[in-house]
Amino acid sequence: MNYSELLGFLGTALAIIAYMPQIIHLLKVHCSAGISRFAYAMWLVASAFLLIHALMINDKVFTALMGFNLAANTLIFLYANIYKRNFCESHMPINMAGAESLK
Ligand SMILES: [Zn+2]
Repeated sequence: MNYSELLGFLGTALAIIAYMPQIIHLLKVHCSAGISRFAYAMWLVASAFLLIHALMINDKVFTALMGFNLAANTLIFLYANIYKRNFCESHMPINMAGAESLK
């Protein structure tokens, strides 16, 4: 592995770490606050196209990054749809929080 690939894999590891808070919050507390389903749908399709390109040019780093991006974007998009309009207490919109306290 050369230095360029090493940097690429370190960047891929950072990208994986960066996704984790969003994925954990969504799966653990079923909160979809702040998730744009449209944006994740676009990133999902973009990741698929870029993964195909990475495979065709036989680039290991780009393939790993886009493979993870495709998996993460698919997971977030699916669960953001399942839990749409679900919010944890700290992300509850003010009008909904007020309605909750009246119960
Ligand atoms: Zn939340």
